[in-house]
Amino acid sequence: MIRSVTHSLDNYPHTGTTRYEDGVTKIPGFACSTMDAEWLSKQLKLRMPVQLFLKSSCKQGPDVLSYNVIGEIRGSEKPEEIITAGGHLDSWDLAEGAHDDGTGCMQSIEVIRAIKALGWKPKRTIRAVMFMNEENGLRGGTAYAEFAKKLNEQHIFAVESDAGGFGVETLGISGKPEQYAKVKSWEKLFKPYGIYELSDGGGGADIGPLKPLGTVLSGVNPNSQRYFDHHHAANDVFEAVNKRELELGAFSMAAICWLVSEYGL
Ligand SMILES: [Zn+2]
Repeated sequence: MIRSVTHSLDNYPHTGTTRYEDGVTKIPGFACSTMDAEWLSKQLKLRMPVQLFLKSSCKQGPDVLSYNVIGEIRGSEKPEEIITAGGHLDSWDLAEGAHDDGTGCMQSIEVIRAIKALGWKPKRTIRAVMFMNEENGLRGGTAYAEFAKKLNEQHIFAVESDAGGFGVETLGISGKPEQYAKVKSWEKLFKPYGIYELSDGGGGADIGPLKPLGTVLSGVNPNSQRYFDHHHAANDVFEAVNKRELELGAFSMAAICWLVSEYGL
């Protein structure tokens, strides 16, 4: 049993995956809340007699068929060149998964909605992708890249939001030096969203499998100080999301997708 990995002192245990090596006895793994860990630690230091009662109802269910959800605006001049904005649909089932990763899904949808609301017609195809099964094996992201390869799609750029819906500080970019230099030249356009840097190196779990196709990858990096107060815990709920921070993150994603669509890489 471990103390939950969070900065916050509260009563929410944070869940996650337990991995076993081959050929070992599979013992259950538990995480307790930080407050319970503090209490337990104090009792042990006082050499008090301590008994721990553990009850788990966790089980591994069989695989079921599921799907990525995709919406797109077809490009007006180069529809074959695809730009992906994504987050993941699944979450740990002890909460709503608002920050992990409902916010990334909503921001990706917002990329499409904002461009449509402005009446703009992108030159290249812009897709919002809600990836399935990030938490338990990355199967949606893997399948997306497999289909891209099979259909011979040209994925020029992908941006992912999967670090919480907090105010964005930087966008990380992974590509060839000249591609990064081009994106970097747009940096000042992102200042109004609170983004101070388009930094070298970035991506995300679900878009990672696109890398071998030569796709330039980008990751949204919000302020990280509060993410692990909610990550994989019962308090990762809708109410923990700030609407304005969420919107600014969405518009920064829309802006980078639009710039790549209009000016290429
Ligand atoms: Zn996530």
